[in-house]
Amino acid sequence: MPSTNKQFRTKLRAMDRQELNKLDMLNYSRDQRRMIDQERVRRRRAETEDPSVAALASSMSALQMDSDSSSRPANQSGFNSGGNSGGTGSGGSRSSGSSAGAPERWYLFPEHHSMVAEQVENIVFKSSIGTGAHEYTTNLTGSFKCSNPNCKKRWATGIMATVIRGYKQQGGQLGYSAQVYSQRCIKCDSLGRMNLDVDVYVERVARRLLIWKGELEPIRRPKEKREMPPHIDELCEGCREGNCPGYKD
Ligand SMILES: [Zn+2]
Ligand SMILES: [Zn+2]
Repeated sequence: MPSTNKQFRTKLRAMDRQELNKLDMLNYSRDQRRMIDQERVRRRRAETEDPSVAALASSMSALQMDSDSSSRPANQSGFNSGGNSGGTGSGGSRSSGSSAGAPERWYLFPEHHSMVAEQVENIVFKSSIGTGAHEYTTNLTGSFKCSNPNCKKRWATGIMATVIRGYKQQGGQLGYSAQVYSQRCIKCDSLGRMNLDVDVYVERVARRLLIWKGELEPIRRPKEKREMPPHIDELCEGCREGNCPGYKD
């Protein structure tokens, strides 16, 4: 690693949490953004694990430099569960993911199934993100509002990372789910509250299910040119999971 990167990382370690979260990602290079993100994630992990560690994190950050891998709680390392029962969705936690509850890293939308089912016959919604017979990564559109009551930042996105999965069912039905990933606030790094463009959700999910059922030919459509702010992968929960069409490397 070039020494300028090393210096930058050392600077980040020395910052207190507020200072770190206030950094504007747009002002930094890709390498630097990655380091900022790593440092934010490291502090969040420390906080999740033990509140007393979080209190110490800013003053003792230099001493914890190599503790990342050993201090990672199991539920932060990815989604290993084959499904999460009952509800709108959940990221690392088990809450229902309604707009009133804690913001989640991703959501499922069983409430939109009836609209998808109007366009595709013989399908059933599954509250699962487990590996299925089919998997397709795409993007939906919508907007977010920062969940931090002291921030209130809003942003729109044309790249809301989404993984549609298909599951074989008995009786020839096609089971499916669509996991829609949240994004983080560029100002304070809190998770956003998602406002999904439901029409686009229904259209893209239905389309994919029809293709999987052999009822629609996949055609490549020209990419729509839209005026959207750049997609910052460090703030996208889909990019973090390697499930985002906006990810550039
Ligand atoms: Zn914010
Ligand atoms: Zn992304």
